Amino acid sequence: MKTCLVTGGAGFLGAHLCRELLERGHKVICIDDLSTGNIRNLPESDGFFQFFRHDICFPFETSGHIDEIYNLACPASPLNYQGKNAIQTTRTCVLGALNMLEFAQRHGSTILQASTSEVYGEPLTSPQREADRGNVNPIGIRACYDEGKRCAESLFFDFYREKGTKVKVVRLFNTYGPMMSINDGRVVPNFICQALRGEDITVYGDGSQTRSFCFVRDTISGIISMMESDSYVTGPVNIGNPEEITILELAKTIIEKVRSSSKIVFRPIPDDDPTRRVPDIGKASAFLGFKPTTSLDEGLELTIPYYINLRRGVQ
Ligand code: UDP
Repeated sequence: MKTCLVTGGAGFLGAHLCRELLERGHKVICIDDLSTGNIRNLPESDGFFQFFRHDICFPFETSGHIDEIYNLACPASPLNYQGKNAIQTTRTCVLGALNMLEFAQRHGSTILQASTSEVYGEPLTSPQREADRGNVNPIGIRACYDEGKRCAESLFFDFYREKGTKVKVVRLFNTYGPMMSINDGRVVPNFICQALRGEDITVYGDGSQTRSFCFVRDTISGIISMMESDSYVTGPVNIGNPEEITILELAKTIIEKVRSSSKIVFRPIPDDDPTRRVPDIGKASAFLGFKPTTSLDEGLELTIPYYINLRRGVQ
């Protein structure tokens, strides 16, 4: 049994991760400032699970040994990290990473950074490989997240080189599944909820931009495999599902699955919205034996009932 600390543990990925770590018999300490996370996604506190409301922009301390830290804290939806939350997003990425790296250093813990496919910006080649340097607009509306996560990666590798901190970095591609907030703003919950309500499905741009959607169970298994990998596997390693789909195709698929009468409408595309996103998972496969097992079709079948139940007030 290990003691794991999960920052951003009340968020979509964080809550799934806390539950999976508990399932595997570990002790979990979850910290979250609840700015975008939802405490209702978390299990009750007991001898195995503890929750602290805390903003990682400020140093965190706890007594007792921490084996592993999963640093997930950060708003991840463009709707949440842009606009009024942009400065706080950079702060969370950079100061949060710094505080948690110093914590890891003090405790001798292994620390994993949830980085993102956004470090690739507007990709110059597809699929995106870890060696790609990225093509990010440093002054655009997505920069707080993209550059914040890039700076966090550089801090991780500087701690590794300068202080010998045990670091691991995964670059997560689009993930979806139950427990993503209905108001999250990301495309999968938006389209499902619009389809369930019979509202217009809002495709931004002409819908020809692509994403590759990974079901949350697969993403979580990739993250945990990375943490459990040999210490020389520092990453960065892409985690995602290479099944690429255009946003217009996704809209049609969801309308069909929900058997909705919704119509597709086209809305202006946000600035710097990447035109393609597809992971090369060769490294994840070679180093972690990672292979996503849930197709988009199956994953949507597992996700849609969650939103049906939310509408019924069951969830
Ligand atoms: N998108 C859309 N309609 C929506 C929400 C998103 O067409 O209601 C598009 C968005 O412009 C992007 C893609 O879906 O091209 C994925 O967006 P999301 O916010 O889920 O994540 P991103 O990959 O952009 O961080």
